Amino acid sequence: MVKAYIGLGSNIGDGLKTLALAWKEIAGTEQIQAVCISSPYCTEPVGMESENWFSNAVAEIETSFSAEELLGILQKIEKDFGRIRREGDVGYQDRTLDLDILLFGDTISRKPLLMLPHPQMAKRRFVLEPLAEIAPDLIHPVYGLTVSEMCVKLAGENKEARQKIAKMAWPESII
Ligand code: AMP
Repeated sequence: MVKAYIGLGSNIGDGLKTLALAWKEIAGTEQIQAVCISSPYCTEPVGMESENWFSNAVAEIETSFSAEELLGILQKIEKDFGRIRREGDVGYQDRTLDLDILLFGDTISRKPLLMLPHPQMAKRRFVLEPLAEIAPDLIHPVYGLTVSEMCVKLAGENKEARQKIAKMAWPESII
């Protein structure tokens, strides 16, 4: 079994409900053992023009899938939640559900179809803060820093560190 971390995001519709349902789908998949999910966070869009703020969370799982197989499973779940990838889509779009593999054990992969660790994670407050909530001492296999240290580094670094984010709570009824 490999420990993996998944980033969940949604900025169309009822984001918290979408993330909670997606987490149930992931957790109910054979060969995946759900460990935990962070609180949900309400986050300002970065790197895209949109009025719609995001709901984000990070989940920890253990799995006997390969990283490629896990990506396939996550893409199927995204599709089931109505995310349509169009030919010619450039940059970031509003999305019903976005699922990214942030880390897959200590795997390092530079294949464009599956980059591990996720190449943007160190620059994204909406990833690092929920990840720090569930795995503050986890060490990034490339940077050699803990997630907590990465949060501190990002805060001192660039304008994305000023992204507004607010920790929320899962409504009792949905998780
Ligand atoms: P996005 O539209 O941001 O969800 O990007 C999806 C594309 O990124 C897909 O074509 C994936 O094959 C690719 N990709 C590369 N690395 C990863 C990763 N670690 N997790 C999820 N998708 C990835």
